[in-house]
Amino acid sequence: MSLVGLLKQGNHHAGYIRLNTQLVTKPKDLLEYFTIHEMVHLIEPTHSERFLSILSRHCPAWREARAELNELPLAAECWNE
Ligand SMILES: [Zn+2]
Repeated sequence: MSLVGLLKQGNHHAGYIRLNTQLVTKPKDLLEYFTIHEMVHLIEPTHSERFLSILSRHCPAWREARAELNELPLAAECWNE
């Protein structure tokens, strides 16, 4: 499954986060990035400047984590910075 698919399965629209169990097989820092990413979506649904500001505050190394995720056998999530 691609990262896009995993992110889509991370339900952040109903006030809770559901993470795909495939994520537990990934390095802990990547799981942390993924979880923080989804948590930020609870208060900011789009990848807006506000989203990036909040994400950067709670996960300063998000760019590295995202790049690392993209190097895994997963597709990149498409979103503008
Ligand atoms: Zn997202």
